[in-house]
Amino acid sequence: MDKNRKGKVYIIGAGPGDHKLLTLKAAECISRADVIVYDRLVGSKILGLAKKDAEMVYVGKLPEHHAVPQEGINRILVEKALEGKTVARVKGGDPFVFGRGGEEAEALAEAGIEFEVVPGVTSAVAVPAYAGIPVTHRDFCSSLHIITGHEKPGKEESSLDFETLSKLEGTLVFLMGVKNLSSITSNLIEYGKSKSTPAAVVEKGTTIMQRKVTGTLEDIAEKVKEAGIQSPAVTVIGEVAGLDRRLEWFGKGKLAGKRVLVTRSRQQASKLSEKIEELGGEALEFPVIRIEEPQDYSELDKALENIGVYSWVVFTSTNGVEYFFKRLRFKRIDIRKLSGTKLCAIGEATAEELEKMGLYAELMPQSYTTLDLLKQLLPKIKKGEKLLLARADIAGKELSEGLKEKAVEFDDIAVYRTVLEESGREAIIELLEKGNIDFVTFTSSSTVRNLLSILGKDNIRLLDKVKKVCIGPVTAKTAEESGLEADAVADVYTVEGLVNKLVELSEV
Ligand code: SAH
Repeated sequence: MDKNRKGKVYIIGAGPGDHKLLTLKAAECISRADVIVYDRLVGSKILGLAKKDAEMVYVGKLPEHHAVPQEGINRILVEKALEGKTVARVKGGDPFVFGRGGEEAEALAEAGIEFEVVPGVTSAVAVPAYAGIPVTHRDFCSSLHIITGHEKPGKEESSLDFETLSKLEGTLVFLMGVKNLSSITSNLIEYGKSKSTPAAVVEKGTTIMQRKVTGTLEDIAEKVKEAGIQSPAVTVIGEVAGLDRRLEWFGKGKLAGKRVLVTRSRQQASKLSEKIEELGGEALEFPVIRIEEPQDYSELDKALENIGVYSWVVFTSTNGVEYFFKRLRFKRIDIRKLSGTKLCAIGEATAEELEKMGLYAELMPQSYTTLDLLKQLLPKIKKGEKLLLARADIAGKELSEGLKEKAVEFDDIAVYRTVLEESGREAIIELLEKGNIDFVTFTSSSTVRNLLSILGKDNIRLLDKVKKVCIGPVTAKTAEESGLEADAVADVYTVEGLVNKLVELSEV
């Protein structure tokens, strides 16, 4: 890095919670930044866009700790930029709507540091929208007022001009106002706003934890207290807050409100997570394994150089396909060398991975069980044909033993490695301890074994209250042998099958 070059700071709004409300520009800036300076309301999926080696600086509040003071944050931004780094300053909602982004921009301007502001979707508008409340509506109001509710309680000390506020005809949106709600509503009433004005409070909007309480100016504070609504929440006061329930649209998916722990490898988790989220659930990705290249390529290289000797290549997973062809390309071996070789892909996803390269498997056993696989594969192999099994380093022995028994000639080669991913340990334990996870999914025996070894024996009990769902019977058996009773097994042993099972369990 050029020490003399000053870096640049992007003051970014990350939206109100739903990570898909992040703008394209924000995503691009976060994924390119060297340093990420972030607040409490920024979710892990958004932070996950950062480069692997990006420096992560948390400046939000910690329980029982004070937040880093604003001057401290300003200083960090200036210092990092002076080191020549690209800094993403990531905030919840929009950075200039009660986000103190203005102060940060001032500090940067003063220090002569280049910056850009990337506006975000503000909770003041998006959270009501997710709760079915349009903040303006032609029939009811012609203005929108966004007000801070973060004030010391007590009318005398309030800097808010309730006299003026209560005369406004437009929609009033209070941010940071849960604690002071009763003082806000009583002040508005005292200064003449009608007691029957509709009011709504939306907690943790745009996330699966979203809750809404509706009422009137007179009773909303009491109702909110009863419901135990906590910060962050947005308060909407005005006719629009009382629009009928027809406008409620969020949280209607078949997995709405469900939190699912997804334990595939980092590379594979996304497909399962996507499907869960499409159905309104929240996928908490905790990759328990990481796929890496083999430490030693000599066996695979030898096989690739003599690929013609194999009549069949058997791929047991998408990873197998990926790493096999990656190496083939690395060695600059032409794919046409495979023209005389038949391909066997275990499972649909594996076949799809081959199809991406224009390769169509001769055989695609539908089942994940080795017995089924052998039943379908063996009759296809002619005498004298040799097989190459392109597999994981930790693959079970059943397949090779079955082939040996039938005197089939084969080479069993690890084309990738499965490594335990321990970085998320504390976070998984914390989530399980809090008890707000509905399902944990296991997509292979190794995800079972790995999750258990990451958690450690003493923490296995944390899984007692969580429904455990396995992709197939082999995985379920591994779970059982490890002391985990699966609550359900997918009927079809694919990601789709697994998701269908989650839906089925959510319906009961
Ligand atoms: N810059 C942010 C607001 C920061 S102030 C924005 O534009 O959204 C923090 C307040 O925003 C919280 O106290 C709460 O009132 C509101 N808020 C932020 N995210 C929210 C969410 N997901 N649900 C409800 N309120 C939210």
